[in-house]
Formats: sequence, C-alpha cells, structure tokens
Amino acid sequence: MDYLPVFLRLDARPVVVVGGGRVALRKVLWLRKAGAHVTVVAPRVHPELRQQAARGELKHIAAEFSPVHIASAVAVVAATGERTTNASVSAAARERGVPVNVVDDAELSTFIFPAIVDRSPIVVAVGSAGHAPVLARRVREQIEALLPERLGALARFMGARRKAVQRALGAFARRGFWERIAAGPVATHVLHGESEQAERALERELLTSRLTASAATAGLGTGEVYLIGAGPGDPDLLTLRALQLLQRADVILYDRLVSEAVLERARRDAERIFVGKESGGPDQQQRIHELLVRLAGEGKRVARLKGGDPFVFGRGGEEIEVLAAHGIPCTVVPGITAALGAAAAAELPLTHRRLASSVTLISGQVSDGALPDWRFLANPEHTVVVYMGMAQLPNIVARLRAAGAAPEHPAAIVERATLPGQRILRGTLANITSLAQAHQVRPPAILILGDVAAFAAESVAAALPRPAAGVPA
Ligand code: SAH
Repeated sequence: MDYLPVFLRLDARPVVVVGGGRVALRKVLWLRKAGAHVTVVAPRVHPELRQQAARGELKHIAAEFSPVHIASAVAVVAATGERTTNASVSAAARERGVPVNVVDDAELSTFIFPAIVDRSPIVVAVGSAGHAPVLARRVREQIEALLPERLGALARFMGARRKAVQRALGAFARRGFWERIAAGPVATHVLHGESEQAERALERELLTSRLTASAATAGLGTGEVYLIGAGPGDPDLLTLRALQLLQRADVILYDRLVSEAVLERARRDAERIFVGKESGGPDQQQRIHELLVRLAGEGKRVARLKGGDPFVFGRGGEEIEVLAAHGIPCTVVPGITAALGAAAAAELPLTHRRLASSVTLISGQVSDGALPDWRFLANPEHTVVVYMGMAQLPNIVARLRAAGAAPEHPAAIVERATLPGQRILRGTLANITSLAQAHQVRPPAILILGDVAAFAAESVAAALPRPAAGVPA
C-alpha cells in the first residue's frame, strides 16, 4: 500500500488552493463540502470561484504564488497546470511539513484526492496511488450503483438513536440489535424514505430485544421478503434496487425464468432455492407461500426473484397477500417485464404516433382468466402482447381472425428476449403459426400483434429523400 487512506477533519481549518481554473474549482468544492476555510491563490479565477469569493464563501488572493500564502495552511493543493509553479508550491509545503496535493502529479504530492462516493456521513474513497485515476473512477461508479441513495440517512437515523439504545440494552444485546437494524426491515424502510414505518419497526425490534434477550443474542430478528423483478434475462437490465437487495438477501427463491447471469449478481454466500413449476406438483404456489413464511419467520432476508416484473403475470399479488396475512414486512421491486424487454430488443415500439396509441398485455392461457375482448384486440392500431402464448398460437390466431382481424395483420415473435440466442420472427396472422413451427420456437417467447409488429426504423430512413451526392446531410 503506497498511501494510507485516512479521513481528514478540515472543519473551519485553513486550506490553500493555488490555481483558479476548472480543476481548482472541483477541488475547492470538495474542500468546502468538508467545511474547510479555503483561500484561492491565482492572478485570475474561474467565474464560479469569483462569485464564491464575492459571497464570502472563500478568500481570493489575486497574485502569483508565494510561500507566505501557505504560512498557516493545514493542507495545500496545487492546481495551476504549470509544472514549475506546482513544483515550487510542493517544495514550499514540504519544507513546512504541510500535506500537499499536486493535481495529476503523484510525485510532487504527499497526499492524493481519492475518487469519492458521498453518502455522508458514509463516505467511500477509492484511490489508485496515481497509477490509474480513470480506473479508480470506474470502481467508484460501480460502488455508486451498489450503495442506496439514502444510505447517509440510515447512518444518521442510527446515530440519532445510539444513546437511547445504549440506555435500553446491555452491551452484548446491543451489537446484535444494531446488526439486525442495519440488515432488516428498519433499514429497508429508511432506505425507501418511509420514516414512520422505520420508527415503528425500530420500536418493535427494541421491544423484542428487551423481552427476549436470548432470541436477540441468537440473532433471531424479524425477517423480511423482497419481491424482486429480475427483468427479462440480461443482468444489466436489473434495477439498482434489485442489485442492492440481492446483495443483502440470505436466501434467494427463484424460478425458471431467472437467468443464471442474474443469479450471479446475488450475494455469493446466499442460499439459493429453485422453486420453478418443474420443482413441485400442482400445489407449487402453495409451497412457495409456506417457504416464504417459514424462512422470513426464521429471521431471514428472503429475496423472491421473479422473471420480468413480479406484478405482470408473476403471481406477485398472491404472495404479498400471504405475507401481509402473516405480518411479514415486504418490499416490491419492479422489473422490466418481458413485453418491454422484447420490444426494446426487437426495436418494435409498443406505441407509436402513427401506428398505435394503446397496448394490452394478455396471457395466452386464456382458460386462466376472463376471456379477452377479441374484437377490441383485433384492431391493428391497438398493440397486443401475448405472454405464455406459444402453445395456444393457432387458437389465438383463429380467434383474432374470427373477430375481424385481417390475414395481413402484423405479428412478431421474440424468443429469449435479451438473452443469448435471442431470435426475432416477423410475419402476419396468415403465416405466424407456420413460421413458429418452421423455426421450432422454444420458451420463453412472446408474441407482439398489431401494426407496430411490422415496424422497421431502417425502412423509414430508406424512404426519406436522399441528399444529392456531395451535399452534406
Ligand atoms: N412476470 C414475467 C412474466 C411471466 S409469464 C414478466 O413480467 O415478464 C412467462 C411468460 O413471459 C413467458 O411464457 C413468455 O411469454 C414471457 N417471457 C418471459 N421472459 C421472456 C424472454 N426473455 N423472452 C421472451 N418472452 C419472455
């Protein structure tokens, strides 16, 4: 390790920045965030710095650098862009034993600015010891995505209650208590901005800890369930919240539509339980309900991971009913449903000013629920997306035709949307069944019907009048 990462308290302490350009401005912003009293030394400064000086937020000395400027500084930053000036700043600071940073010059620096993820009071600093700042920034971006926006609020929430908890619980119980707060429903509520529920959940935890010291020390807190939409398959289509909760979960219940690549983004040591239809009999959904209740009852954080969105043909509604009946806290995280994944993958807009202004999502297993109004769906200016429709394809085509749809009514099938091996078939009601057979379409596949299914962005471009040769477009 070339540098020791430490956090420097700069509140109301004098720091000098030599240089007044954009780079200096960025450093000044961070220094001021930390409460430093900044003096900028430069003959000319960026307008933003000038305004800050005019507002009295920093001091500006309009002069070339001289060692007297840093006489009382506790840290110095050189950001002039001129190596000779930077070198003399560095020399003057080192002579006085004051920490100095020269922007983009690790050799002249005694401290460096890390890439920062700011969820104050939680702060993450990433450094590359000057080897590859670009790489450090990329790492920062990845961490940025993983840390919930309200992490700082959670830290403040916990900080504000430390004293009260200290009075209420013994040292041993306290540790387990805070672990459960950080990892359980209280944190989930704070992170989602639900402060009242958080407060109530905290009271409950406190009560449990007081009443059953043994349960508390055994780590048996309140479990919770995250009902997470995993999207159509490509793991990059997970939401940030899905990723964050997948990192927290102790157990993951997933079904067939959840891709291996998505599971790889979950916490490594989380237990995984396959609960797809193939894993059980006709009462599989019932078994899932029992499993959710049992695992959460054991105090576990359970991620129930579903393909697409949990509330679009995902039976998510039934699962939250069961959880509510048992008083188990639950968070629903939306996912990109297959219709949207397929539309994007095939570049078929589901609505389009010229082609369609409404969409219906239906299940092809029509026996499952109320029969759709086929006459309404037969209108080609209305987009219809059929989930679980492949087995019923001839039947669906026949019903639409009977309801008045033309044989040339456009139809498209997207197989394995967003997954490796994705295929897109385009046709019409007249030939879509034979196309599907000829290409041996396998699940998962989705059917898109209506004028948008014939959409092709390139054909519009091709139809535009071409600019004459030699004339720039
Ligand atoms: N809750 C899921 C839908 C589950 S129903 C969602 O919101 O997407 C299962 C049906 O979804 C499949 O029969 C298929 O029609 C569709 N489906 C799911 N993933 C798909 C994918 N990657 N490509 C095409 N269709 C998909």
